[in-house]
Parts: sequence; structure tokens; C-alpha cells
Amino acid sequence: MADHPGPWVQVVFPLPLETEFTYRLPPEFVPRGALEGLRVKAPFRTGEKEGLIVGVPAEAPSDPSKIKTLTKVTDTLTLFGPLTLLTARWVARQYLCSLGEALAAMVPVARRERELPVWTAEEQAADHDLTLSAEQAAAVRALTSDPEKLYYLRGMTGSGKTEVFLQAARWVLAQGRQVIYLVPEIALTWQLRETLVHRFGSAVAVLHSRLTPAQKLKEWHRIQSGEARLVVGARSAVFAPVADPGLFILDEEHEGGYKSSSTPRYHARQVALWLAARAGAKVVLGSATPSLEAVHLMREGKLRTLSLGRRLAGGAPPAVKLVNLRGSTSSLTPELIDAVHSTLARGRQVVLFLNRRGFTQSFSCKTCGHEAQCRNCSVGMTWHKGRNILLCHYCGYQARPTQVCPRCGSLDVGWAVVGTEHIEEEIGTLFPSARTARLDSDTAEVRGHAEAVLEAFRQGELDLLVGTQMVAKGLNFPGLQLVGILHADLGLALPDFRAAERVYALIRQVSGRAGRFLPDGEVIVQTLRPDSAPILLAAQGRDEEFWTQELALRKALDFPPFTRLVRIVVRGKDEERVRSEAGRLAQALHQAFPGPPGPGSPEVLGPVECALATVAGNRRWQVLIRSTDFPLMHHGVAGVLRSVPTGAGTYREIDVDPLNML
Ligand code: ADP
Ligand code: ZN
Ligand code: ZN
Repeated sequence: MADHPGPWVQVVFPLPLETEFTYRLPPEFVPRGALEGLRVKAPFRTGEKEGLIVGVPAEAPSDPSKIKTLTKVTDTLTLFGPLTLLTARWVARQYLCSLGEALAAMVPVARRERELPVWTAEEQAADHDLTLSAEQAAAVRALTSDPEKLYYLRGMTGSGKTEVFLQAARWVLAQGRQVIYLVPEIALTWQLRETLVHRFGSAVAVLHSRLTPAQKLKEWHRIQSGEARLVVGARSAVFAPVADPGLFILDEEHEGGYKSSSTPRYHARQVALWLAARAGAKVVLGSATPSLEAVHLMREGKLRTLSLGRRLAGGAPPAVKLVNLRGSTSSLTPELIDAVHSTLARGRQVVLFLNRRGFTQSFSCKTCGHEAQCRNCSVGMTWHKGRNILLCHYCGYQARPTQVCPRCGSLDVGWAVVGTEHIEEEIGTLFPSARTARLDSDTAEVRGHAEAVLEAFRQGELDLLVGTQMVAKGLNFPGLQLVGILHADLGLALPDFRAAERVYALIRQVSGRAGRFLPDGEVIVQTLRPDSAPILLAAQGRDEEFWTQELALRKALDFPPFTRLVRIVVRGKDEERVRSEAGRLAQALHQAFPGPPGPGSPEVLGPVECALATVAGNRRWQVLIRSTDFPLMHHGVAGVLRSVPTGAGTYREIDVDPLNML
């Protein structure tokens, strides 16, 4: 080696390239430790690119004169060690992406900015653990002392799951191991961080994608150094560089936020299970409404169920009433209007929930049914009355509403199903003296608005809150008595095999808001289809029946959890290219899996246009692969993706175990 000016390093880039590129370290660079995990700048193609060192080549390159020299080594401290690298290789294999793409999603790769203080320095633990109920104590005992590794803590909001997680975490920390505590949304990490800091002081670190790169890097280094031992965060915090994790907590396990929607499309639950198996750690999932995948595992005995049956702060499960919307011209039926009146008369609070944003669902012709659709995306546009525009919620395209149906010339055009803005207006008329606010993703665009509205509601400064999903999640409203779900069946008709599961979970979750602290909570579910199973069973809280029924359907239709899927979406500006690329992939997949679909051979569905056929000017086609034999399918798909080069002008989105089917 002495005759080679070296040393050499292997570098990967956040690109869909499997190659690890060899470079020479800059002559002035003096290594201070491991080279793996250092960020670099490297000459790449005609320019310069940021990459990561992932190793040193086993042998000197055969022609060292061809090896380029790195422009710069950015770090002095390594960002990751062998364990993270091993995890990244697994992520790349499992989710069919390159090592560089996997690492880019896992570690804080952005450039170091000026250092900002993350939190006010030392924080002292102040709160004490609560005395557990018998059920909570049994759950903590199981989590700390029983031999099983995988648990599901089932309990409605307010049943004391958080306290169980905290006390199990305390025990694990006392063993000298670390804890990773995940929540499905960044907004929830702040709430939880406060609770954790009160309990555990400066042992807490926060990681999520909305920290500035400098903040993220600082937290990352605190975890690497062992100073922070309890990591709280959203999805990507599952990759926190802890040395010896003893427990992974995933609260609200059923939430879609745990699945990444960009490459690599990993699921934090799946990653946690893999990491835990390697480390001999435990995993506890928690929710009142487990995903069907988790239900299936519980029923098969692969996931041990721990249950919390009652509310600890004085509440009781609410009474749920179904009301038929058919024929109603208003969004509020007389039953709901009466209930709102009497709730307000008692000085209590109301939440009205709508599974949709904006003024209307769609702008359509009442004569011929023609729907206003985005010209870029094939989704209905939403009318926003305040701004008098039609807005596409995928690409942001805006248009003016028309007076005349462009298809049949009818003047009877308008909106079929209303949105929160319109409901707020109706409410203003119906309950003029109520203090009302609206919370949806439009109003939430104003920074701090959502927090301010929720806080005002919590403080009792508001009587009535109208909102979308944003009011449906993990928030405590002590004065809340009545929840109205306005159009419960919205969402059932989506071309997605999980539509029923989602509607079911949503009704259950929203219902959980009412009577959180008081024993007289009330829920009114308005629907056009009061006899549809997910709505009826959700209203009656018949979880086991719904699961049994839904699992039977999934089994009959060969859908997860009885099969597994890989979804390949091909997108691009040019329809013809996209279609033929999807066709080539489908053909290669058919060749790879020639047998009749069944246990021995995966099934290839498509190519077909996606339900959302155009997004932001990109045409989208998909191929879906389905099998009961995951390794067989996975291996075959990986081979095809490698052997069929990506066509010019097209891009592939590869989704293993997809959650989003649109
Ligand atoms: P979840 O996480 O299931 O929604 P939490 O853990 O937030 O429930 O608990 C709900 C409420 O009950 C909180 O106000 C919490 O302080 C309280 N609580 C939890 N456990 C106990 C307990 N053992 N004794 C008294 N109050 C408790
Ligand atoms: Zn028309
Ligand atoms: Zn659009």
C-alpha cells in the first residue's frame, strides 16, 4: 500500500445508485477517529455533491490515478457507527432503495449551520410518578419483567397509557439502557417533550424533521455521547443513534404518520421491530384503535395485549347516537341542533368534526353531476368561499368557480357536501351567541393559530369548535361534552382497501374526545349510511366484531394482513413514456413470476393508471405486486428493478407494504 497515495474511502450519495464510490481523502485531512459516518463533499459527474463515508475499500484501487480526491471532509465527529450502517443496509434492502438514500433519511445530513441553542440548558426533573391503578401496574410489570418482547397497550384516550409508558421507560433507563418514544406527528412531540422533561430532566432528547439542521445535529450528538438517553420524536427518531435500546414505544400505532411518504418508504413500526430484535429490546405499541395488521398479530398471539379498561380522570365512555342524514339540506340535523343547544345551555363545550377541509367537497353540476376537477391533478377542487376560489389540494392550482356547467350548460351548479368554512357560517346563524372557532389545515397555515385556538378551547374561552382531523387527535378538552361527526361516511368510497378501517378508527378516535374527564359525554354521528358496518359498529364500539368482519373481508379479497404488497408507481410528465415504462416493468414482473398467482407465485396487478392519475403535472401509473410469500416476492421485485433500467423522463416510487393506495 505504501506506493499508493491514500487512503481511500467509500462514499455514497443520496441518489438512487447502488454503487459505493471510491475517493481519496484530501491530503490535508488528519483523521481523528473512525472515517465511517463523516460527511464529505466530493467531485461527482460534472459538479460537486455531498455524500457520506460508509467505509474503506478492502483493497487499493487497481488504477489509483483514476481516483478523484474529496473536496472536503465536513465533519470532525462521526455521525454514525457500525450499528446505524447495518440498519441503513437493512432499510435499503427492505425498502428497495440505495444505501445513500436510506442514510439520507436516517441521519442529519444537512450542512452544519450556525449553532443555535436547542433548549435552555439544564432542566431538572420535577414531577413524580403517579401511583398506578391495578391495570396500569400489571402492564408496567409485564413490560419490565415478562419474557415476551412485543406488546400492545390497548386503551382509550385518558385510560393512562402515557403513565404506563413513562414508568416502563424509567425502569429501562435505570437498567442503563435507552428508550425511544415515538408519536405519529411532530405537533405531539412538543406536548410529550414537556411531560418527559418534567419527569426525566436533561436525559430527554427530541428528534424530528422540523428541527433546524443545527438543532438536529446537536440532539444527535447528545444521543451519541450518551448524555441523552430518552429520545422522543416522530417517525425518523426511530433511527436515533442510541447505543443499547431497551424499549421502543410507539403511541397511536394506527396512525399513517409512521409511514414515510418519500424514499425510503419505511414504516417506523417495522424498523422498530427489526432494531428491537437485534438489540434484545422490547417494543410496546399503543392505541385505542389498533391497525388491522396489529389486530391480526394479537389474534395470532405474536403480540401480547395489555388492556386498560377505564378512564382515570373521572370520565366514562360516551353515549353514541347515529342519525340519518338522508334528505337533510343542512349539515346539521335537527337532532344535532337540539343537542348543541342543550349542551351550550349547560355551559359545556361542543366539537363538530368533518373529515374534510375547505368550504365544499367539490363544485359540481346538480343536473349532470359534472365535477370541477384540477386541470393538473385528477382530483376534485375545493371551493374556498372566503377567497372565492377553487383550490386543488394536491398541486395548489387555483381557479374561479364557474356560473354555468361547462359540460351541459346548466345553471344549477354548486357544492354537494359542505366543508368546515360553510359549517362555521351555518353555526353562526344557528347559534349566534356561541363563541365559535374553526380549525382545519387552512386556518392552521397561520403560524401558532391552531395552538392558540386549542388553548382557548381548553380554557373555556370558546364554546364551539369546528374542525377536521386536527381536532380529532390526542388533545385534552376538560369541558367538552358533545362531539358531532357531520358526514361520517366521507372517505368510505375512496379506492383504497383500508377505507373502512380508516373511517372506523376515525369515528372511534373522535368519539374518544367526548367525556374525556366527565361521565356524561355524548357523540352524534350523522351519516347517509347508518347501516354500513364500519359506521354502525364504530358507533356502538363493537371493536372485536368489526375486526372479525374486516379481517374476513381482507382474507377473502387477498389483502393485507393476509398478503403483502409492493407498489411501484411510475411518474413523469409524458403520459406515453410513463405508460410504456409501467408496461415494461409489469412485463418483466410477469416473466419473473410466471406461475399462476398463488402461494408459489406472486400476483402482478396492472399496469394501471393510479387513482390519482395526475399530481402536479405528473402522470402516474402503477403496478401492484401481491403475495403470501414476502421473501419470494421481495427478491423477485428487487431483481426486476435492478434489471429494468429506469426509462428516460420517468421516475419510480417504490413502496413496500404501502399504506397509501391512491
Ligand atoms: P392516555 O395516554 O391513555 O391518553 P394518560 O396517561 O394521558 O392517558 O392519562 C389520562 C389522565 O389520567 C391524565 O390526566 C393522567 O394524569 C391521569 N392518570 C394517569 N394515570 C393515573 C393514575 N395512576 N392515577 C391518577 N391519575 C392518572
Ligand atoms: Zn352539468
Ligand atoms: Zn392539482
